[in-house]
Amino acid sequence: MRITGTIVNYYIHCKRQCWLFAHKMNFEDDSEDVRTGRILHEIRSEGRNNTEIQIEGIKVDKMTEEYVVELKKSDADVEATKWQTLYYLYILKQKGLDRKGRLEFIERNKQNHRTVELELDKRTEPELIRLLDDIEVYLQQDKPVPAIYAKKCERCAYYAYCYI
Ligand code: SF4
Repeated sequence: MRITGTIVNYYIHCKRQCWLFAHKMNFEDDSEDVRTGRILHEIRSEGRNNTEIQIEGIKVDKMTEEYVVELKKSDADVEATKWQTLYYLYILKQKGLDRKGRLEFIERNKQNHRTVELELDKRTEPELIRLLDDIEVYLQQDKPVPAIYAKKCERCAYYAYCYI
């Protein structure tokens, strides 16, 4: 199974969501949150250069000479976005493109606008490789882990699937 940035993100956010998404059980088009995120992204991207770059299956929100930029509408799960972006840096590095990562959380007001910078370095790269191995093994299971019953479930596109 081909790993993507979204799969890496979901593995950190919720392993059950990761398995369901990777096995093509995708209810995200029904989610108001996902629609809002997409619209915000389109508004923010309008008229900019270097938006939404696609390279062999990698789809990044923006790439400059120095950075891969990942735009998110909320900073609810920074850790998941961090590993998603490190995965992009890793794939790009294999293609000879060395970049740093920058996360921009775009729905916050200007005073609180938050950015996080990342690097694929001696510490994060081996951790990422271990994470990718773990994801490969997990996705070979014939069913996902049980639902987690956490606060984040309330806003999840899989809520109805998991609980109703
Ligand atoms: S509803 Fe909860 S358990 Fe189910 S996929 Fe979403 S976050 Fe995971």
